[in-house]
Parts: sequence; structure tokens; C-alpha cells
Amino acid sequence: EGKSGIQKLPVNELSHIENVIAVMSGKGGVGKSSVTSLLACEAKKKGYSVGVLDADITGPSLPKMFGVKGMAKSTGFALLPLDTDKGIKVMSLNLLTHNEDDPVIWRGPVIAGTVKQFWTDVAWGDLDYLFVDLPPGTGDVPLTVMQSLPLNGLIVVSSPQDLAVMIVSKAIKMAQYMNIPILGLVENMSRAVCPHCGEEFELFGPSRGKEISEKFEVPFIGGLPIDPHLSNLCDQGKIEEYNSNLFKNLIPEKVVQ
Ligand code: ADP
Repeated sequence: EGKSGIQKLPVNELSHIENVIAVMSGKGGVGKSSVTSLLACEAKKKGYSVGVLDADITGPSLPKMFGVKGMAKSTGFALLPLDTDKGIKVMSLNLLTHNEDDPVIWRGPVIAGTVKQFWTDVAWGDLDYLFVDLPPGTGDVPLTVMQSLPLNGLIVVSSPQDLAVMIVSKAIKMAQYMNIPILGLVENMSRAVCPHCGEEFELFGPSRGKEISEKFEVPFIGGLPIDPHLSNLCDQGKIEEYNSNLFKNLIPEKVVQ
């Protein structure tokens, strides 16, 4: 039973998942999906078995970032996730529709129901980590995921503007109300890498991520700089080739027995 008193959904017999970590943001376009993907890449690099669940039903971007195409198959009673080049398992609504640019015109309960099905009806197999890319904001789906999935923790992504107007605080407070441990705050795009000399500079003045983290008593993971190389790799479906050390300490080294 979840801490909120609501029953958590059991995962199906075809899946055994050790750690479920959701990634949240106050608003869209702050780099939430990129962070979800980079977390998955870090865990995969360390030798873990990893999956990503795209709960951003109306704005799915994980398949594109990982370069995963085609339709997910069904065994009749379970949906099979698709594998990335490096073997990360992906499930997204974009892998179930014929055209990736078709809009999803569904009401909230149907969308929330689909996200639940990505947990109960997908044959994830044995996973050490499942990362859940939530839609932006504090709406229906983040609430459903927090209530129904056995989350081990949550990562909050913000951008400098978002920190300035405190949109991110709504996301942090929601997780705190729901008793989901916040593993940390990632500040995206407060710094940029010069494409010519590679030096980093602060675009919007001094970073506030640390200050906000202290205010809400959540760990500060650090900042992800604006890097044209990252957006290029995302566009080409090659995010697995990006090197970032940001999540090195967050994902522990795998203990080989
Ligand atoms: P969200 O999930 O919050 O909507 P995304 O992760 O999809 O945001 O990012 C939006 C776009 O911005 C993507 O095209 C991504 O490649 C780009 N992007 C995000 N973070 C960075 C960064 N640090 N440097 C360069 N491009 C970035």
C-alpha cells in the first residue's frame, strides 16, 4: 500500500523491477526528457538493465531521442518494449501509433489509464532501473504515477526562468505532499558551452539551483549546460553517444557478485 493510503498497482508477472525513478518538471521544454534519457544512459553504462517509460503521452519524445522506430509488438497479453542501440528498453505511445506526428486527442482519464497500462501490461523483464518521463506540470498523470507506481524517488528538472518564477516549487511541493522522496534537483540550461572554445559561461546570471534546493531541503544534483552537441544528438536519435558526468554519483556502481 502506498504512503498516501492508495493501493499501488502490482507490476505484471513478466516484469521484475528493482528501482522506479520518475522525472518531473514544473513546465515544458526545460529538458526533462533529456534528463530522463541521460539518467538511463548512465545506468546502462554502469551495467544495469534499464527501461524508460514515456508517460508524457501527449508530447512523447523518448523514442526520437533514442532513435527507436517502429511499432511495439504485442504477445496478446503483454506489450513488448523496443530496444535502443545500447539495449535500453523503451515504451512510449509513439511506438503504438502509425504516424509519430498524429496528435493524441484523449481526455485526462484515458491518458492516465494508458500510463497505468505501461506499468501493468508491458513485459519489461528484469530491470534494475525504470525511469519514468512524466508530462510537465502537476496534473493528472504525475498524480496517477505518484499514487499508482511504487516510486523509489523523483528527480526534478528546472530551467533558470522556471526557478526565477518559482514554477518548479509546485512540482517539489507536490512530491513532498505525496511523500515521494526527491532524489535531487537538476538545473538545466543555466550555463552554456561556447561552440568555439568549449568554455562554459552563465547565460542568465548566477545559478539559483543550489539556493532553491536548500530552500526546499532537496539535494542539488547540479547543472546541465546548454550544449549544441546534446541537442544535435537528440535530433539524430543518438543521445546514447552523449557524455555527461552529471549523474555519476546518483547511480551507484554495480556490485558484481
Ligand atoms: P522537456 O522534456 O522538458 O519538454 P526536452 O528534454 O524534450 O524537454 O528538451 C527540449 C529540447 O531542448 C530538446 O530538443 C533537447 O534536445 C533540447 N535540450 C534540452 N536540454 C538541453 C541542453 N542542456 N543543451 C542543448 N539542448 C538541450
